[in-house]
Amino acid sequence: MSARVRAVGEAAYPSFDALLTAVRQCRACEGHLPLGPRPIVQAAEGARILIVGQAPGARTHATGTPWDDPSGERLRAWLGIDRARFHDASRIAIMPMGFCYPGRGAGGDLPPRRECAELWFGPLRARLPRIELTLLIGAHAQRHFLGARRKATLTQTARCWREFAPEYFPLPHPSPRNTPWFQRNPWFEEELIPALRERVAPLLSR
Ligand code: SF4
Repeated sequence: MSARVRAVGEAAYPSFDALLTAVRQCRACEGHLPLGPRPIVQAAEGARILIVGQAPGARTHATGTPWDDPSGERLRAWLGIDRARFHDASRIAIMPMGFCYPGRGAGGDLPPRRECAELWFGPLRARLPRIELTLLIGAHAQRHFLGARRKATLTQTARCWREFAPEYFPLPHPSPRNTPWFQRNPWFEEELIPALRERVAPLLSR
């Protein structure tokens, strides 16, 4: 995080609560959201782990709870933590690439709105100084955080996870729809997941 980004975030919002309130009141791309704005973010200043996913699905939009679905169950199993610990904002921040449900297109849910990262990632990240591990779930998060370091495909990026650890762990989406991918890539559960759990445990115990 650059000093300039930190300064901008601190100057614009007098407190973390003020920043979160501004995020939750955001309507910047309202006209593009079929169900309207409902920014879904979990964060507190002491968080040690940041989870960056894609964008909430319709079910998460309805409940307001991030990862409140079978994908979330698999993600928690990967991390080796229960629901209570996962939703403890003082330990884990959850900040998808798009905070609101973007709607559906022909191939499934639409990509996250770009406005979110432009508006909010700098100020939010500047207020999360204790983050030591960021999980990059899916191609959008990997593109944003890894830039040119990303490999040609998501599979290659995840396969090269050692290049990005311990700061980042690039992951595929834990959706049940990706079960064939998990079956084709046994190294993921045999190598990456044990290393991820080993990295997560001490960050949540302090
Ligand atoms: S998707 Fe992001 S930029 Fe758009 S209204 Fe929601 S919080 Fe604001």
